[in-house]
Amino acid sequence: MTDKLAWITKALNELREKKLYNTIRTIDSPQGAWLTVDGRKTLNFCSNNYLGLANDPRLTEAATAAIEQFGVGPGAVRTIAGTMSLHVALEKRLAEFKEAKAAIALQSGFAANLAVIPALVSRGDAIFSDELNHASIIDGCRLSRAEIVRYTHNNPNDLRTILANKRGQYNRAIIITDGVFSMDGDMAPLAQLCDLKEAYDALLMVDDAHGTGVLGRTGRGTGEYCDCLARIDLHMGTLGKALGCAGAYLAAARVVIDTLINHSRAFIFSTSLPPGVPAAAMAAIDLVDSAEGLGLRAKLEANRAQLAQALMAGGMDLLGSSTQIIPVLTRDPVPTMQMTAHLLEAGIFLQGIRPPTVAPGLCRLRATVMASHEALDLERAAEQILAVYREFAP
Ligand SMILES: *Cc1c(COP(=O)(O)O)cnc(C)c1O
Repeated sequence: MTDKLAWITKALNELREKKLYNTIRTIDSPQGAWLTVDGRKTLNFCSNNYLGLANDPRLTEAATAAIEQFGVGPGAVRTIAGTMSLHVALEKRLAEFKEAKAAIALQSGFAANLAVIPALVSRGDAIFSDELNHASIIDGCRLSRAEIVRYTHNNPNDLRTILANKRGQYNRAIIITDGVFSMDGDMAPLAQLCDLKEAYDALLMVDDAHGTGVLGRTGRGTGEYCDCLARIDLHMGTLGKALGCAGAYLAAARVVIDTLINHSRAFIFSTSLPPGVPAAAMAAIDLVDSAEGLGLRAKLEANRAQLAQALMAGGMDLLGSSTQIIPVLTRDPVPTMQMTAHLLEAGIFLQGIRPPTVAPGLCRLRATVMASHEALDLERAAEQILAVYREFAP
C-alpha cells in the first residue's frame, strides 16, 4: 500500500534538515517570571504576560465569578444567541480606554485582523502596509482583495512617496501598521503616519497587540506614547498579551463597529469570547489604568532598559528595539537553535525565531521582559546570552 501521507512526512523532514522544524514545550506552571519547562525550573523570556496580570488573583476571581453566573461557554454566535451583558460592558470600557466612540470584542488578534480589514476595503481600494506587519494583518489584507502596497519598514518618507504616486488610483485607502513590531520590538512613527493619512484621505489602522497596557503614561498604548491616540481611526489590540487574558478588540467610530457587526464574517460566524474573559479583561483594564499599573509599567521599563543595555554593552545588535521585546540578531537557524538549546540547559527559556516568522538571514533570539523579573535574574540572563552568543555565533 502506498503511504498517502508520504509527501507531508517528506516536507516535514526537509524542515528538520534545515533546522526550521517547530517543537512546542510543555509548561506545568502559570506564565510568571519563572516557568516549569519540561519539568525544569527556568527563567521565562517567552511570555507576553508583561505585567503579570494573567495570574493576578483579581483577574482569576473576576473570571471565576463570571463563569459561575454565566457559564463557561457563550452558547452561540452573538448575531444569533444575543450578547451577554459582560461583552457589552467590556466594549464600553475598551472604547473609553482607547478614546474611541465604540468597540467590539473579537475572538483573537488573528481573528480581529481577518474580521476588520476585509469588512472595510475590497477590490478597487488600497491598503498601504508596513513591510514587517504581523502575519495576521497580511492575511487580513489578502482576504480583502484590495490592492496591497507595501512600504519600507517604519519609513514615513517612503510611504509619502508611494501615496503621492498611487493614492489617486484607488477608491478607499487604509494605512496599516503594528504599533510595536512583534519581532523587532520597535515602534511605528504613529504621529507621522497620522499626518500622512490626513493628507492623503486614508484611514489609519494600528495593531497595538504589544503596546496596549504597556506604552503611554496610562497604558493606552503606542498611540498614547506618540501623543496621537485620538487621531487613530482603527485601534486593534489584543486582550491576550499585557492584559493577561485572551481575545482582541477593535475600537473605532460607531459606524465602523456597526459595519463589522453586519459584514464581518469572522465575527458573524464565530462563537464569542467565553464569559470569563470579558470579566477578567475589565479587571485588567482597571488595573492598567490605576496607580498600580503605572508602577508596573515603570518596573517593566526599568527591566527592559537593564537587559537591553547589558546586551548592547556586549556588542549585540538589538535591531532598533525600544520596548520590552528584545531581539538579538543571530542570522542563521543552526547557531540560533544551538543557542536556544544551551540557554534552556542553563535555565533560561527564550525562543530562537526563524523563517517564516522572520526573513531568511535575520534569525534572532527573542527575549520578552516582564515587570516581575528581578534585577539579578536579568543580569544572569544577559551574561548567559552573551556567553552562548560568543560560543555559537557564526
Ligand atoms: C500576537 C499578535 C496578534 C495575534 O493576536 P492573538 O490574540 O494571539 O491571535 C496580532 N497582531 C500582532 C502584532 C501580534 O503581536
